[in-house]
Amino acid sequence: MQALEIISRKRDGGEHTPDEIDFLLSGYLKGDIPDYQMAAWLMAVCIRGMTRAETLALTQAMVRSGEVLDLSGIAGIKVDKHSTGGVGDKVTLIGPPLAAACGVKVPKLSGRALAHTGGTLDKLESVPGLTVDLDPDRFIRQVREVGIAVAAQSPRIVPADKALYALRDVTGTVPSVPLIASSVMSKKIAAGADAIVLDVKFGRGAFMPDPASAEELATEMVLLGEGAGRRTVALVTAMDNPLGRSVGNALEVQEALDALAGKGDEELLQVALVIAREMCWLAEVRGDPDDALRSGAGRETFLRMLAAQGGRIEEGLPVAPVQRAVPSPADGYVESIDALEVGLAGLELGVGRAKKEDRVDPAAGIVIEAPVGARVRAGDTLAVVHARSEELVQKVIPRLHKAWKLSAAEVTRPPHVLARVDKDGVTRPEGVPANSRRSL
Ligand code: URA
Repeated sequence: MQALEIISRKRDGGEHTPDEIDFLLSGYLKGDIPDYQMAAWLMAVCIRGMTRAETLALTQAMVRSGEVLDLSGIAGIKVDKHSTGGVGDKVTLIGPPLAAACGVKVPKLSGRALAHTGGTLDKLESVPGLTVDLDPDRFIRQVREVGIAVAAQSPRIVPADKALYALRDVTGTVPSVPLIASSVMSKKIAAGADAIVLDVKFGRGAFMPDPASAEELATEMVLLGEGAGRRTVALVTAMDNPLGRSVGNALEVQEALDALAGKGDEELLQVALVIAREMCWLAEVRGDPDDALRSGAGRETFLRMLAAQGGRIEEGLPVAPVQRAVPSPADGYVESIDALEVGLAGLELGVGRAKKEDRVDPAAGIVIEAPVGARVRAGDTLAVVHARSEELVQKVIPRLHKAWKLSAAEVTRPPHVLARVDKDGVTRPEGVPANSRRSL
């Protein structure tokens, strides 16, 4: 077998055998196949796509590249949750603790900020003392005792994804349904849970541009999960506007605590509750996440999780030295807030990393004061920037002004949850076409 032959087959729209995919991936990891050949193949996949059988073979080969976590020490059905990434997406800090408070066991491995999207590990690490580096024994013990643990993935799990992702990142080959599906699902399968709830985002702040492509990705991922014997459900949710009211590590932890105290943004709570209900359903537990929210049990579980991971929330979250209001340039109603621009502003403030070796600023971020639908007058505050210097504030203000689109007419907030995908297909309200922006 020759790498060149395999690359040419994909370039010409052909289909690979599982052996060919194995040959390519293992050859690349061993260093026998150079970056330039792998990059050429990735680009061919981006353009030509892959069949379901090929995507499954790639996912399985990626899982085999490393260890699979053994979670048999935890009784019951274990449920994982994953988001394809967004701006202000702190749902993992709200939905899974609500599910855990209902009795679901949640062993969750998370990632760091990627491009303009935030990372759960970076958010959690803004809590003084908290660690996300849990060895397998501690991770399993915490899930047994608290119901939930959120930890960093060991480099021994799917090392192929790390290598491939780094290459995709610099060769324009990230936005491909089979490549994203196999990247996400190989990690979820290797992380060992029995069931998986996926939050597949679309829109300006997401990797998928529209509901149709997010639905396609959701379907592929559900079939991969089910093919590996994991019950899998995906929700297709909007990421045109940032989710909730804050973007930033400590700011989002605070927003999650407020949401768990019932003081949350309506859409954020809606997405978190939908996710938590799906987790309860898959785990076959009878608890109700709405009750866990009302009673404060979800908040209690989240606080126990932070403490079990060494977090000392009682010491307070980091606060940025400079906080500046961004005034509205005109009167109007907020029609939209471009999540990509807000995410990029966050990146400039240090919410994420421009380069792999950059350090995040735990206190930096943006708090939205005028959400979609709000009526503003010129001079009213659209957002408050939290930064480590005045210079950084001045740098991001033009971007934020660009992000807020005002309209003269009243605006209703668009729906957030558009579809649910499981092994039996896509569920939408009756008569709603595939590309509709109406919610379930
Ligand atoms: N998140 C992942 O883990 N992989 C991708 O390819 C894209 C988003």
